[in-house]
Amino acid sequence: MARKFFVGGNWKCNGTTEEVKKIVAMLNEGKVPSQDVVEVVVSPPFVFLPLVKSLLRPDFHVAAQNCWVKKGGAYTGEVSAEMLVNLDIPWVIIGHSERRLILGESNEFVGDKVAYALSKGLKVIACVGETLEQREAGSTVEVVAAQTKAIAERITSWDNVVVAYEPVWAIGTGKVATPAQAQEVHFELRKWLHANTSPEVAASTRIIYGGSVNGANCKELGAQPDVDGFLVGGASLKPEFIDIIKAAE
Ligand code: PGA
Repeated sequence: MARKFFVGGNWKCNGTTEEVKKIVAMLNEGKVPSQDVVEVVVSPPFVFLPLVKSLLRPDFHVAAQNCWVKKGGAYTGEVSAEMLVNLDIPWVIIGHSERRLILGESNEFVGDKVAYALSKGLKVIACVGETLEQREAGSTVEVVAAQTKAIAERITSWDNVVVAYEPVWAIGTGKVATPAQAQEVHFELRKWLHANTSPEVAASTRIIYGGSVNGANCKELGAQPDVDGFLVGGASLKPEFIDIIKAAE
């Protein structure tokens, strides 16, 4: 089954209203392949979601960077999946390593969040990835498999899930995984899905790479057989994001 190339822009905790408007204007002017070739999703901070959604070109979509693990209520500071649905936000990023590591989100908690978001009709970019210590200890595949397993155990369909493999040591560091390193882990993740979900899920689920992707390295990374796109942080705030989208061609 053909997997449509997917490029996500994770703006993280950046931007003012004026800066956000400028980024959207830059995106709206960009010449990129059609929606038949590439799916583009940008993820501003919660407070800018309605603004970005209202200004953004119709062939690009928006994602939240997180959502709460269950129905909203007495959870100060959280944003529920129901609220995102209410605002017509189609996508959400869940399990980013910054949340796993800084905010202590466990594999189980991330799995619960993915399951809840899917149950409300959101589409999910589910992030996995090993730390440098784990890579050096030779446990990369074990770590990403455990992270994926905690999701797989809690969901019944992978139709609305994109898996983002983001090695922690490559995020925001300028130390991008080599195309061979990325391909190796993507291949292992697909193999894991094949053995533990179904051959169909393994064949159709998009596994995208994140971690210091830029306009210069995207082509070679995107050409790897099991790399189905990118989740881009720093470079998603710059004009080179358009070049990264063009790597789909
Ligand atoms: P980066 O971030 O592209 O700035 O390394 C990627 C991410 O955290 O999604």
